[in-house]
Amino acid sequence: MELAATWKIPFKGNVWVVPSQSGSGVYNVELSPEPGTCTCADFRAGAIKCKHIYAASYAQMRTKNTGRDAAVSEELKAIAVKRKTYPQVWPAYTRAQINEKDQFQVFLCALCAGVGELPRKTKGRPSMPLKDALFCCTFKVWRVTSSLEDHVRFRERRRLDSSVARSTH
Ligand SMILES: [Zn+2]
Repeated sequence: MELAATWKIPFKGNVWVVPSQSGSGVYNVELSPEPGTCTCADFRAGAIKCKHIYAASYAQMRTKNTGRDAAVSEELKAIAVKRKTYPQVWPAYTRAQINEKDQFQVFLCALCAGVGELPRKTKGRPSMPLKDALFCCTFKVWRVTSSLEDHVRFRERRRLDSSVARSTH
């Protein structure tokens, strides 16, 4: 593995050219058909899978991975180019945010208006009409979400302010 990781192993024709670890000469490795062949003495002597075959396999795997990475990055580039963006209509966006609360109450009121009444209690404090109770509960929940959004906006605003302050100094 050390061989494959540190040495350059070129691929010529069908042959991987693996340098000798002693530094003199090269061995030619063919990986297919399995289990491969090598021109070194070890391989010729025992016809076993020598270190040069392992090194060539590793180099082949690395080449395949590099090819795949390149293909993926090309694909990502293509997606990035294709992605369409739309301009934000800021005046409408701002108007929607300003009117959101009023509009929400109008819609909620209309929705609750259709809610029927429960039978009246005969004793104790008279209960609130069901449609009003529903309106209040829903509005309260909506306000919580709404204020969370306000908080996010406020934080974003503060971040922008500080970055403007940094860039002007
Ligand atoms: Zn060998």
